[in-house]
Amino acid sequence: MYDCYNRRINYLRVSVTDRCNFRCTYCMPEEGITLLSHDDILSFDEIVEVVSYGVSQGITKVRITGGEPLVRKGIVTLVEMIANIEGIRDLSMTTNGRLLAELAVPLKKAGLQRVNISLDTLNPMKFRQITRVGELADVLKGIEAARQAGLAPIKLNCVIKSSSLEEDAQQVAHFAKEHNLEVRFIHEMNLEKGYFTRVEGGDGGNCATCNRLRLTANGLLKPCLFSDIAFNVRELGTEKAYELALNKKPRSGHTNSTGSFYNIGG
Ligand code: SAM
Ligand code: SF4
Repeated sequence: MYDCYNRRINYLRVSVTDRCNFRCTYCMPEEGITLLSHDDILSFDEIVEVVSYGVSQGITKVRITGGEPLVRKGIVTLVEMIANIEGIRDLSMTTNGRLLAELAVPLKKAGLQRVNISLDTLNPMKFRQITRVGELADVLKGIEAARQAGLAPIKLNCVIKSSSLEEDAQQVAHFAKEHNLEVRFIHEMNLEKGYFTRVEGGDGGNCATCNRLRLTANGLLKPCLFSDIAFNVRELGTEKAYELALNKKPRSGHTNSTGSFYNIGG
């Protein structure tokens, strides 16, 4: 699949829930969010249909995200259903890691290949401040479980305020090196204000080479994180939604006033 600017689109990021067991300060308000109703959320079959069609058109790389994907009921079954779609060469997940200690092995068995785990600091107090409810120790156990399960390469997603030279970021980098993990530094962004930059160590945020489409938990196919453009797969049908998303993918993003990280998945 190619968009209007001749960018090859082969990467689909699938948000499977807007719910989360953390409340990171840069992502969600403390009181939580108005949750989508059960009926609004795509069923497993609907998700598989959208992914399968994408794969038939040239998607080879799929990332499962959220909200927190591991809080979606039956996530292991969903991963297995997606893994069974022929043509996906790279199936990954972005998770906060809180539930990985118990789910890493079943996820690997279901066909998940690798994980990105979010880790902004190694200081337990700061970790609690950032996530508002999370325990650093749980995530460290999750990282170890992912390693043992072979969900590799494991990449750590580290959100930074202004520089990867910040103390917390440096400690995460050191931890990554020690444990043979990769690390990506993501500048804290603001969708509404249009603050976005390239991801250090990753491909995100570079419009010229963007190869992505995004599917939200409620079935919006979005060609750009930093734009309000979205096409509803339920209303339009999968094929039409893809056609429009490809045709309307902007050359570069500006602002997004209708979506947030927790419902688009970052
Ligand atoms: N809950 C999972 C997690 O935290 O890894 C997956 C969803 S989360 C929205 C995906 C990624 O977006 C995480 O790595 C998170 O750190 C990042 N993220 C969330 N809000 C952000 C913001 N305002 N700026 C930059 N990255 C953000
Ligand atoms: Fe939840 Fe991930 Fe957002 Fe943190 S960044 S609140 S873990 S969705």
